[in-house]
Amino acid sequence: MFLVLALLACAALAEDVSGALPGIQPMPTLPAPEKLLPQAEMTDDGPDAAEEMVESVVMELVAQKLPLSGVKIGIDPGHQAHGNNERETVAPNSTEKKAKVTSGTSGASTGIAEYVTNLEISLKLRDALQSQGAEVYMTRESHDVDISNQQRAQMMNDYGVDLVLRIHCDGSENRSKSGIALYCSRSNAIAEESFRAAEAILPRVCEATGAKANGIVQNDNYTGQNWSTVPCIMVECGFLSNPDEDRLLNDADYQWKLAAGLTNGIIDYIGARE
Ligand SMILES: [Zn+2]
Repeated sequence: MFLVLALLACAALAEDVSGALPGIQPMPTLPAPEKLLPQAEMTDDGPDAAEEMVESVVMELVAQKLPLSGVKIGIDPGHQAHGNNERETVAPNSTEKKAKVTSGTSGASTGIAEYVTNLEISLKLRDALQSQGAEVYMTRESHDVDISNQQRAQMMNDYGVDLVLRIHCDGSENRSKSGIALYCSRSNAIAEESFRAAEAILPRVCEATGAKANGIVQNDNYTGQNWSTVPCIMVECGFLSNPDEDRLLNDADYQWKLAAGLTNGIIDYIGARE
């Protein structure tokens, strides 16, 4: 009898605890035993999260072994859809002024505007550099921008890149003129280091493309180089005024050769610097 009463009392208590009384919450239901197994084995996102973690560790290890890992490279694809004829000073300590950004040249046979060719080459260069582990900063990735040459230099100064390549194509009244030239500043603080980088890059880009090497020119004529506080080279990739070279410069395969040659040159420069 006592046992029966005790059981009834327990049943009543259990009923109370189960939530009949105000202010007492029902006990949470314990999960079934299999639900207590480690989440990574049981849930949908567990294995994916683990895979992602392994993948990111592997990618990091791979990146550490790439020749340009830890290196920041700036790319300034020359010009833009519309030039800006407002003026800005050509150098920090100069009163001489030049147009903020000119409209550039265009292809003698293709008619393609230089700013288009420059960006196509630059995007391939970006990809080639990233494939070697570099961190790449672009002044523009579209045509419809308005960024002066001084602002472009300032952007790269702010990013603190190891080297900037300003990608351009040349033009001349002499339609037979062809080949690649590199331009660096002559007098500012980055002149010497920029020249050193240019010396590493010119043979490599000519080797990859088969283009004629027109040398390294040092002068203080260019706003983009004069305002740079990080090593900076203007790459004149070839002559759009030459009908044959114009076709090459606007050919995707040739653009990849340019990108590969420039990347190899940068690898040599960074390797020699370290
Ligand atoms: Zn140009």
